Amino acid sequence: MNLLLPAKQLTAGCFFDLDSDSGYGHFIGGEHVYSGATCPNCQLPLMLHCSLDLRDPVLGVPDNKINTLPLMYCMRCPLSWHEFSYRVLSNSAIRICEAFDEDRYLQSNRKKLSQWTEMLSNTRKEWESLVGFSSFPCRTLGFRRYPDRLQQLFNESLTNGLTPQQMDELRLLLTGYSRQKLIVPRPINQMGGIPYCTQGIPKGFCIRCLETKKKVRAMRFLLSLTNEPLLQLKFSAPSVQILFLFCPKCYTVTVINRI
Ligand SMILES: [Zn+2]
Ligand SMILES: [Zn+2]
Repeated sequence: MNLLLPAKQLTAGCFFDLDSDSGYGHFIGGEHVYSGATCPNCQLPLMLHCSLDLRDPVLGVPDNKINTLPLMYCMRCPLSWHEFSYRVLSNSAIRICEAFDEDRYLQSNRKKLSQWTEMLSNTRKEWESLVGFSSFPCRTLGFRRYPDRLQQLFNESLTNGLTPQQMDELRLLLTGYSRQKLIVPRPINQMGGIPYCTQGIPKGFCIRCLETKKKVRAMRFLLSLTNEPLLQLKFSAPSVQILFLFCPKCYTVTVINRI
């Protein structure tokens, strides 16, 4: 994907309220029965990271024709080295529109064949925690608005960078949320807002809107997932942040990860 536009905010930023009853059907993990949801690279079923109930107004998706948005990914193979995009077609089907293809990569990069085994073995450490897993434990999920000050600091970190004082303030705010003693600020599990990323703002436009409507549309930032020891949430290796971007016009989801 050609990275041009910064992902926009879809709705106000929220913390996760795990195991709470939101009155809507939001879930972390669980099994899924979506057709088309197989990793095109390793052929295993994609893992359902989160299901969002689009009827909840907190998500800010107007006139939704589809009730449930499944957020899926595979972090068990080189699929996770590149952007991965799919379109949600219905409450039971997705269609993959952008994915890394290992066979094609190897065919077109013969000179890199010798490096391939080494690349795989180096990265396998990031995948180890998911090898053998087909699903995450299913837990209910609610959302709680986080303070505006937190979003101001996230935005500042992406535009001008944070002063040492702002960095301390951010670290303290996030320590209060996660109840872990943080030495430096680190990404959190969040829905909406603009995410705090240690490697800069995610950028991207909707590839489907470009292909079919010839329109360059910025994706909306939807969700950031990371391991959270206190809540016993484990999505990947400890330092990995998984970002889900969304196009509310055509229901395309793009997934990227940052180490
Ligand atoms: Zn895979
Ligand atoms: Zn789109």
